[in-house]
Amino acid sequence: MHLILSGAALPSSLHYYLEGGRGRDKRSAAPAGASTSLSDFRLRVRETHVWIHRQFRCTVLDCTMNETQRTTTDPVFEAAYEAAQKSLREGGIPIGAALARGREVIASGHNARVQNGDPIAHGEMSALRAAGRQKSYRDTTLYTTLAPCAMCTGTIIQFKIPRVVVGEAETFPGEFDLLRSRGVEVVVLNDARCVEMMRTFQDKHPELWAEDIAE
Ligand SMILES: [Zn+2]
Repeated sequence: MHLILSGAALPSSLHYYLEGGRGRDKRSAAPAGASTSLSDFRLRVRETHVWIHRQFRCTVLDCTMNETQRTTTDPVFEAAYEAAQKSLREGGIPIGAALARGREVIASGHNARVQNGDPIAHGEMSALRAAGRQKSYRDTTLYTTLAPCAMCTGTIIQFKIPRVVVGEAETFPGEFDLLRSRGVEVVVLNDARCVEMMRTFQDKHPELWAEDIAE
């Protein structure tokens, strides 16, 4: 099965699965960092489904997803998004994150630069701090509403977190090359809500945003 849809770039990790790399031709090599577990495969199918609906505004597939499902992302990702919204309500920077083991959220957190006067409290750092000590991170996924900066990327690499699910990278590119070069799988959801949330914040509070990314 080949997907060439109006020039839209399907994330490479999802492309691999749609190509049948896992199911039909077991000899084909998985892309770096790709897991071949069944639960991960199911998650990819779900992500692919949501991605196709978003890209093509629900007009391509004749499927069983209802309207609510089409506009609702991964429930684990929603924990990160909710944390970002909470920060926004508190007058802080709207970036949220959640650490999950499988489908279970261990903890979520948000950027707390404004709330706590803490420059290191990025969303990812706050979620990891809230999760407390973990014997291993190798079976975890870090969800974040915005592409991770260099500091958070370093922490992800340090703790050997194998997978990062990112809401958007349009308003900040993050360090995807560095993450991928260290074997971390990066999934980008292209979540329109996250783009809108950050764009609005950056327009309203350019000085706070510049401070957060040291510009
Ligand atoms: Zn960061």
